[in-house]
Amino acid sequence: MRYAELAAAYERLEATSKRLEMRAILAELFRPLKPPELPHVLYLSQGLLRPEYEGVELGVADSLARRAVAAAAGVDEAKVRHRAKELGDLGTTVAELFAGRTTLAAEEPLTVARVYAVLEEIAHSSGEGSQEAKVKALTGLLGAATALEAKYLVRFVLGTLRVGVREMTILDALAEAFAGGGKESRTRIEAAFNLSSDLGLVASALVDGGLPALDTISLEVGRPIRPMLAEREPSLAEVLERMEGKAALEYKYDGLRVQAHIPRSGPVRLFSRRLEEISAQFPELVRELAHAVHAKPAIVEGECVPIDLDTDEIQPFQEVSRRRGRKHDLDKAQEEIPVALFLFDVLLAGGEATYGLDFADRRARLEATVRPNDRIRLAKQEVVTDVDAAARFLDEAIAAGGEGVMAKSVGPGSSYRAGARGFWWIKYKRDYTVGLTDSIDGVVVGGFQGRGRRAGRYGAFLLAVYDAEKDRFESFCKVGSGFDDAALAEMPKRLAPFDSEERPAGVETGLAPDRWFRPGLVLEVRGAELTLSPIHRAARGAVRAELGLALRFPRFTGRYRDDKGPTDATTSHELFEMYRGQVRQAVAEAPDEPA
Ligand code: ATP
Repeated sequence: MRYAELAAAYERLEATSKRLEMRAILAELFRPLKPPELPHVLYLSQGLLRPEYEGVELGVADSLARRAVAAAAGVDEAKVRHRAKELGDLGTTVAELFAGRTTLAAEEPLTVARVYAVLEEIAHSSGEGSQEAKVKALTGLLGAATALEAKYLVRFVLGTLRVGVREMTILDALAEAFAGGGKESRTRIEAAFNLSSDLGLVASALVDGGLPALDTISLEVGRPIRPMLAEREPSLAEVLERMEGKAALEYKYDGLRVQAHIPRSGPVRLFSRRLEEISAQFPELVRELAHAVHAKPAIVEGECVPIDLDTDEIQPFQEVSRRRGRKHDLDKAQEEIPVALFLFDVLLAGGEATYGLDFADRRARLEATVRPNDRIRLAKQEVVTDVDAAARFLDEAIAAGGEGVMAKSVGPGSSYRAGARGFWWIKYKRDYTVGLTDSIDGVVVGGFQGRGRRAGRYGAFLLAVYDAEKDRFESFCKVGSGFDDAALAEMPKRLAPFDSEERPAGVETGLAPDRWFRPGLVLEVRGAELTLSPIHRAARGAVRAELGLALRFPRFTGRYRDDKGPTDATTSHELFEMYRGQVRQAVAEAPDEPA
């Protein structure tokens, strides 16, 4: 395929925010393709070279890209810099510099295969002289590109491709292009993706062997699985009712979710909730898991929390977050902030896939697979059948430093549902009994200029929740409280990669912030209660026509959810459920009407 066809599709995708249209454009793009071209086109369209969990980066900074653009256009670098500053985007700048240019006569038109090969070369070049090599490779590509191609090549290398195609839309398009577009085939394709986290692999299997080939995709050590997620209920009685009177309750540890991959031999690898590799941050867990897990190869899941090894007491989560992303002083951090991993699930044991087993069987396998030690432990669990026993267990969990309990269905069908949020797992925190104190993870989609003490910087931010069905982001609050000076100074840096001239595709709100951001940064906020709003768009129409849900008195908790991508944020549906829980509670607490 010519790269020009891909660039033309991007141009069309950028012009629409309608999911159905995006799906049709993508399906048309994918239909004629086969492996290896198909997976390459899929990765490129997501702004990636390989599945996200592999963490392959190009390592191309603005200055490097500017040099390549200047060389390819035959102009001074200062001129490129100046114009890019004015336009706010090097992609648009290169398109302007190349305006009217068709491929040079001496050059073959660019193909996807060539573009992909050169980008891989750029990603792999490291060490001395690599910067020069990268400039040269990129200049070569741009030298053979038309204005439109150059625009998207530059945006790709800088990580600012604004096409906005998310995984769910790609899955829709794959179903339409290769499996008739029906709901059942879409579900099967998504299930294969949830197990493998690799769209390229799923698409290749689908094209080569049709839907039955998807069943051959199973777990592999080193390839993370999309995590199973929990629903909420407002009371323990309702939790038990949902689970038909019987549930396995576990302490709900407040830390960092870790998926550990333990090969037969070789290093253990750890992945975060959003499937980023975090092995380097927890060398002691890597080491201890290799000893503690004896049925190798295995994949286990647990929550990593800071712990005082002298007293065995769980410490506040903030301690662990200090270790995230900390590359230096790891030894020191290990001593200062020791962590333990509380395992709660097993997906592969002794090379055998266990995710399809019911939960009670998985727990038995987990216990048989792990020899606990100081650092690697089992999540505390008790199977309960009445509310009193559940309430006692909750008290015990909180006294031990947990933030509540996780209830897990032990009934038939309680297999591990990768990537799905459902009532097989229900999270219950003590807080639910006293108003809306559960936190919400919101995606920053806009910024408002500050006034007074905050003049010259952002004073507040527009936050959105994710509507998974419609694949869009709906505003629910404008938050300015809870940001201290350090956080306010840090926000522009954290938001810079998501800067957007206009309202990004798929963002819904009745407010007009001073600056828009593409959904990327996730923040944890708390508020007093959820109310109906004519301005905000979260779950609009679910309670009353024309009204969305809004959070009153929102406040940033100080916790950046770097372990969550934008589509992992709280969903509109969850917000709606929280609103309903709040209403039910208000009814329950209202004084009886006098007779
Ligand atoms: P979610 O993961 O549901 O999107 P979240 O990351 O904000 O939300 P919570 O709402 O606090 O987290 O609860 C879910 C998380 O609780 C799980 O993802 C996991 O990290 C953690 N957790 C702690 N203890 C357990 C346990 N025993 N079983 C399962 N998960 C647990």
